[in-house]
Amino acid sequence: MTLTAVAKSAESPCDAPQLPFEIIGENGQREVFCGLAGIVWLHRKIQDAFFLVVGSRTCAHFLQSAAGVMIFAEPRFATAILEERDLAGLADAHEQLEDIVGRLLGRRPDIRLLFLVGSCPSEVIGLDLSLAAQRMTAKHGVKVLNYSASGLETAFTQGEDRCLAALVAEMPDERPGAGPALLVIGSLPDIVEDQFRRLFAELGISNLAFLPARRSGDLPPVGRQTAVLLAQPFLAETARVLEARGATVLTAAFPFGAEGTTLWLKAAADRWGVDELTFRSVVAPGRERAKRALAGQRELLEGKSIFFFPDSQLEIPLARFVSQELGMVPLEVGTPYLHLRHLAAELPLLPVSARLCEGQDVDRQLDRCRSARPDLTVCGLGLANPLEAEGLSTKWSIELVFTPIHGFEQAGDLAALFARPLRRRDLLGIGP
Ligand code: SF4
Repeated sequence: MTLTAVAKSAESPCDAPQLPFEIIGENGQREVFCGLAGIVWLHRKIQDAFFLVVGSRTCAHFLQSAAGVMIFAEPRFATAILEERDLAGLADAHEQLEDIVGRLLGRRPDIRLLFLVGSCPSEVIGLDLSLAAQRMTAKHGVKVLNYSASGLETAFTQGEDRCLAALVAEMPDERPGAGPALLVIGSLPDIVEDQFRRLFAELGISNLAFLPARRSGDLPPVGRQTAVLLAQPFLAETARVLEARGATVLTAAFPFGAEGTTLWLKAAADRWGVDELTFRSVVAPGRERAKRALAGQRELLEGKSIFFFPDSQLEIPLARFVSQELGMVPLEVGTPYLHLRHLAAELPLLPVSARLCEGQDVDRQLDRCRSARPDLTVCGLGLANPLEAEGLSTKWSIELVFTPIHGFEQAGDLAALFARPLRRRDLLGIGP
């Protein structure tokens, strides 16, 4: 094993409540990234954590490409590469991993939390990273956790879900008699987190924490007084383990656009008993700014059809946003998993003409997309170039995860991400 030089559930559709949509369930070939992609935004958010992928050269190359081959003097992610001898069982991979971690922690006293990130190869050879993490924590006095980001049957945003679920296990219990607390889950850029903090404070919700926090040691307590607000729709496992600790997950739309952000804040305000007048006066300025920012993009996007391939798990809230707030027409909305509970406030806001698809059979979905000829197709990187070559305008779904898109102040930027490919198409004079 060598250390790279680092440049740096779904409920089945059959269980669905009566929804007025056509829902297709597919279980064929998929075109998605693996959970390692999450390291790219998680390492920026948790500023004293290090992510050590235990994987292959493929994992190292993928991670470097996804990160845009950033070069840091002190990178905070790397890959411990399993060589052929490790994979063939001829070398003790555990021993080598311990050696690599010992050298890494010895050289980098700034690391306060180390994640051992499992991959397809480490899972195939059955490396027990959980046991390794426990041993290393005891040996080095630095917290070592593990989670799997393997690409076997996962969507790329599940990497974050599993990372946060691992952090929940470290959260202390709520103190007896502690008052109600709000926990927002989902990695948000610091600037967006600060905007939400200000809004919650104005609503009188001051006992507030975000998971993940900027510093790994800032883990809030959890218990029966904790209300959880999801900032991302792909955190089903994190929500499940928080509920197992006694927390209550609030049903809310997701904070995309003027309406989505208002409904998201309203779910917390209702839980805290904030009166309607106060709520409206707090949200009105941001909501109006967001609406003005959207109006400029709506002119171009209204009436345009859009087709979502399943990739980021943001598809349903984004389809709601583009139809409700920009007047676009979603033809098909694919999602790797349809978490009905967490999407309960979003689904009724989708137009009934939209076809939902859970899972993927990429060839069949490509056929449907080609026959629909949408104005805009949101899909993974692997599908975008071939579709562009066929004259379809595309938007990379991963860009919607990397870019700050939550909240009132980012609503205009979010709309612009959908408008840009259409503007480009108009400039080049090509049609769908
Ligand atoms: S974890 Fe699996 S899918 Fe992801 S890069 Fe490594 S081998 Fe490929």
